[in-house]
Amino acid sequence: MAHIVTCVYCKKKFDRDKLPFVQVSAKRYAHKECSENEGMRLAKEEADKIALENYIIKLLKVDYINPRIRKQLNTYIEQYGYTYSGMHKALIYFYEIKGNSTDKANGGVGIIPYVYQDAYNYYYALWEANQANQDKHIEAYIPAEEVVRIPVPQRRLKKRKLFSFLDEEE
Ligand SMILES: [Zn+2]
Repeated sequence: MAHIVTCVYCKKKFDRDKLPFVQVSAKRYAHKECSENEGMRLAKEEADKIALENYIIKLLKVDYINPRIRKQLNTYIEQYGYTYSGMHKALIYFYEIKGNSTDKANGGVGIIPYVYQDAYNYYYALWEANQANQDKHIEAYIPAEEVVRIPVPQRRLKKRKLFSFLDEEE
């Protein structure tokens, strides 16, 4: 007799007698592989969160992530589907790559929604350039209009198989 269950992560039905599985709770199951992937995803998300918080603490010269900043971050995640790594890159983009000062930050990270898409486009262009050809200079791949506004990037993304600005992109 088959024991057909639905994986809580990928939502696919499978026979738990035939495939490695884990029991998530009383009546919930998952592929063993999906469960491990989820564990890795959560671990990465936690690491991304800590990295972002440390960056904000340094950037704004504060002692800790106060409730206002916490609320901003949570709001962006819930309302816009932003990720910790994406928000981190948005801040790096605005303050380091574009060279803006934190004078107008007002002790918060309210700039994030205003630069998130630009940062995404910027990092995506870098990623594409790296994918296209490791040998050529990335400036050649950034649209002409952008060359005027953006100084030559100080940092390059390490080559990755998948673009991971947004964690949900797999
Ligand atoms: Zn699964």
